[in-house]
Amino acid sequence: MDIRDGFLSAIGETPLIRLPWPSARTGCAIYGKAEFLNPGGSVKDRAALALIRDGEARGLLKPGGTIVEGTAGNTGIGLTLVGNALGYKTVIVMPETQSEEKKDALRLCGADLRLVPAKPFKDPGNYVHVSRRLAEETGGFWANQFDNTANREGHRRTTGPEILRQTGGRLDAFTCAAGTGGTLAGVALALKAADPGIRTVLADPHGSGLYAWITEGEPRADGSSITEGIGQGRVTANLDGAPIDDAVRIADADALDVLFHLVRHDGLVLGGSSGINVAAAMRVAESLGPGHTVVTVLCDQGARYQSKIYNPAFLREKGLPVPPWMEAGAA
Ligand code: PMP
Repeated sequence: MDIRDGFLSAIGETPLIRLPWPSARTGCAIYGKAEFLNPGGSVKDRAALALIRDGEARGLLKPGGTIVEGTAGNTGIGLTLVGNALGYKTVIVMPETQSEEKKDALRLCGADLRLVPAKPFKDPGNYVHVSRRLAEETGGFWANQFDNTANREGHRRTTGPEILRQTGGRLDAFTCAAGTGGTLAGVALALKAADPGIRTVLADPHGSGLYAWITEGEPRADGSSITEGIGQGRVTANLDGAPIDDAVRIADADALDVLFHLVRHDGLVLGGSSGINVAAAMRVAESLGPGHTVVTVLCDQGARYQSKIYNPAFLREKGLPVPPWMEAGAA
């Protein structure tokens, strides 16, 4: 019998999927870690579980307690579902600019959802600061996904070793975008500990400061991106000291082109950050040359962004190309 015991033990041990279209285009083996198959629908289920277990171990989260967190949505969904399974309430603070689908999912899970205007990190009204103050005022447990390194530790203990086991340790590079940086840093730590020759590459959208941090030593943001949950203007505690060799910057149009090919050719309907990740994996594969193996992360499902990147009206409004099949409703 191969049965997982409840929601918590259904988190992780996700498949590693060879991606036919990106592999054929580059002559490399490009593999995607299928994090969208976690029970809460994203890579952030792992962080949610790790943060909650850390809070319990440090005595900060008591039975029946309340978890408070600022999130682009997926961490909130993960925290709420793990919280439901363990008897915790959740208060989720989210910028109102995030997709309606993620807001609906949070309401459906039973989160106390607080929407705030999108503000830069240096503004006291930024969702991360609002969540911290709310936790302080109410005596809740602030999960602090950006600067609590239990987040990357969860990935160092689970996601990284799973990739090593699934590839037999035979991979040349790993590419990944960063929001908190927990996934990138945790996996990079595990891969480098096993084989320092594995190349670790940040995949950064425009508008994020991290590409400049890796290539020039200082975070510097420019431009903007329609992707959600990734891009960062500062070096979070989770990113600090992470063994990252290089960075590539991916334009939204290139990420979307990859995403739409994945829908039509490979049967995968994924979120924007997965497009950035796969586009970066292809870029790295091209620079390494045919015959190499590159692993990346498929963070969440496209259904979470149906009203945005899979919506012709939204794409047109942003000046981005609309694939003919989407226009015709033929998909
Ligand atoms: N992709 C999506 C869709 C996300 O929600 C997040 C988390 N905000 C990430 C990628 C980035 O993951 P991490 O926080 O581990 O850097």
